[in-house]
Amino acid sequence: MLSRVLIANRGEIALRIIRACRELGIESVIAYSEADAGAPYIQYADHAICIGPGAAAESYLNIPRIISAAEVTNADAIHPGYGFLAENAHFAEVCRGCRIEFVGPSPEAMARLGDKVSCKALARSSKVPVFPGSDGAITEEEEALEVAQKIGYPVIVKASAGGGGRGMRIAQNEAALKAGLKAASQEAQAAFGNGAVYIEKFLEHARHVEVQVIGDKHGNAVHLYERDCSVQRRHQKLIEEATGPGIDSKKRDDVCKAAARLIKSAKYAGAATVEFLMDHKQNFYLLEVNTRVQVEHPITEMVTGVDIVGTGLKVAGGDPLPFKQREIKVNGHAMECRINAEDPTRNFAPSAGTIERFETPGGLGVRLDTHCVPGYRVPPNYDSMIGKLIVHAEDREACMRRMARALDEFHIGPIKTTIPLHRELMENESFRKGGVDIHFLERLLKS
Ligand code: ADP
Repeated sequence: MLSRVLIANRGEIALRIIRACRELGIESVIAYSEADAGAPYIQYADHAICIGPGAAAESYLNIPRIISAAEVTNADAIHPGYGFLAENAHFAEVCRGCRIEFVGPSPEAMARLGDKVSCKALARSSKVPVFPGSDGAITEEEEALEVAQKIGYPVIVKASAGGGGRGMRIAQNEAALKAGLKAASQEAQAAFGNGAVYIEKFLEHARHVEVQVIGDKHGNAVHLYERDCSVQRRHQKLIEEATGPGIDSKKRDDVCKAAARLIKSAKYAGAATVEFLMDHKQNFYLLEVNTRVQVEHPITEMVTGVDIVGTGLKVAGGDPLPFKQREIKVNGHAMECRINAEDPTRNFAPSAGTIERFETPGGLGVRLDTHCVPGYRVPPNYDSMIGKLIVHAEDREACMRRMARALDEFHIGPIKTTIPLHRELMENESFRKGGVDIHFLERLLKS
């Protein structure tokens, strides 16, 4: 069992981890930047240590400072949360070298799943469906044209080291593919220091379906069912729900078991998400694996009753998973709306500043994960998410009614937020029917 965990993150996820530690009797140390000094969540940790200026490179991304903070405070583990260093295999390696437990996978498992080409190869050998495409990285234009000819256009060129939607190009024909290969490779070289690219079939009307999985150090791997996160803007998820609406039980079983198989083959310990795209016939293809806890994990907690963050801490401490696959049952439906400090009427322009009014919803089935309070100043340095409104109800219909009711009770000002957009979406006919594709929101915003 871990005894003291340093949290190398901020905001709502830092608070989520502090809460999990407290309930497990683990001491928490919050590492914070000068931009977050005085933030209300810091007081709930047992200890706090400033690790540098507001710029992430000087604090939340600064490995020497984080390691020093863990050593000075005698922490035996570091929790990276999501974003920042969470998927950095080098950081996990440094932790190991310093005999500090990294709350997450081993650097080897992280590398196996984090690199898209090696992940795809492991998926193939574990019989997890992948998009038709090149077997590995492509170096010759000739080879790319041949593969594209075989799988048919449109195709997508992707960076092996990709992330955040960078190093990707869609090609409808040969000329576009030639140009796309060069552009994607250059972009990947600049962004990740690795210009390797590969190609796969491009799916036009897909849903984003992802499976929550968790493994331990004893070779066990369990899935906690799937989430649908198709409501996105610029690859940023805005609404997520568990489980996926309209997915038939055979497909659900297939996709969830495939995800569990993949992390078992990777000898993966900790929480992860296996992301897929699903077509209208509910065929699914692996997109990528996120080797960390995700923003939208609470909806899975609500429908399964499993404390994902708490279980991740137990697993990092060496415990076997406290449940078996057959004990995991889905109860009702859950939905999450991401509340961002952005103005949807001004093309989602960031709206940082002081929150004067902050009146929060409550009642049956309502959970609010936020680090904000009245008077809190949203720093301009970090991403714009200021909270997650999560509701749980007996079915999807009741869930949407409960979400609409909770959004009506939620008042934030004078900064602008995504609340009004969410409120509109709860009345949108296509969304209400379920099963919208990943371009739904962008089409709606254009119209
Ligand atoms: P990143 O790690 O850069 O976010 P992903 O592999 O997760 O890259 O892909 C990002 C997004 O690009 C996906 O959410 C999806 O919208 C789109 N995409 C990626 N691969 C395909 C594909 N084969 N067909 C259709 N869309 C795709």
